[in-house]
Amino acid sequence: MLVPILEELLELDTSTGPSTPDDFRFMDMLIKARALPRRKGVFSPSMLGSCVRQAYFAKRDVDKHSAANPQTHGYFLKGNFVHLQWQFALWRAHVAGLIELVPVPIEHELEILNEMVTAKVITLRQADQWAKALDFNGDGMRPAVEVRVVNGDFGGTVDALVRFIQAAKKSVAVVDFKGINVIDFQRTIKRGAEPKYRVQLVGYGDNVNESELPYQVDFCLLVCENKAGPTNSSSSSPLALHETKVDVVEHMPEVRRRLKTLRWYDSRDEVPPPECVSTNHMMFQECAFNRFCREEVRAVQREHEDRAKKRARNWKPARTQR
Ligand code: SF4
Repeated sequence: MLVPILEELLELDTSTGPSTPDDFRFMDMLIKARALPRRKGVFSPSMLGSCVRQAYFAKRDVDKHSAANPQTHGYFLKGNFVHLQWQFALWRAHVAGLIELVPVPIEHELEILNEMVTAKVITLRQADQWAKALDFNGDGMRPAVEVRVVNGDFGGTVDALVRFIQAAKKSVAVVDFKGINVIDFQRTIKRGAEPKYRVQLVGYGDNVNESELPYQVDFCLLVCENKAGPTNSSSSSPLALHETKVDVVEHMPEVRRRLKTLRWYDSRDEVPPPECVSTNHMMFQECAFNRFCREEVRAVQREHEDRAKKRARNWKPARTQR
């Protein structure tokens, strides 16, 4: 749905970087929207697919440990710019009339700016300049990229809300971009997006549907980009993109179930059990809260290793029949 549109757009070189005054205004608005601090004390849809304990710590704003590791930080640097790059491409597709980035109000962002002024994080003058950049349409509205939606204790930021031309006026799709490695990309081509990503995405869709925004999300699009580029992608996309359409109704029960579990632990102030089973796994090594779990995960790991050793002791070499 979206990938062919982006391919059509990029047949010409006019969309490869900001060139018009509106392009620069758009990038300014996008970066300022992205730079606003995140709301604390809420569960983000992006936590729905992750470890429950990790989500519990993140909601409570527990200090994340920063790995002094250029590989990890380089990974995040690339990841952050993947969003900006494709959000810009969506903007160009909007200008070309291929899709519509629906207008969204900037009320929520203005509230955050006011809070920042009150907390003396920025001056009134800086807040005014920030607000002016956000008010892209000049009527308190801006194109729907980097859209923050918070309903009570559940909310997050959506990459874009896109209305496809010919779709009903209120019908929009949540669009999220993700850079993934070549193995995951090939797996995604075969089986579609991983279940954890589908649940996250539908969480965002539910967020929009429960908000005061005058839009209805029936499906979401996860657009994965192969970090190894088009020549290593095993896909026919010249942009190394692959999209998965995720139906909101189909995945809502899982979203509700995950949220219920998160809220249950949160309301009881009870740290959920660890989900990692080895300190050698990426999931453990890349987790910003792993210092709280190391001993428990090591114990689980030892138990698994002991069991594996016992099983190995019972093995007998096969004898050839004479
Ligand atoms: S280290 Fe593993 S178990 Fe602990 S919070 Fe992170 S992901 Fe969860």
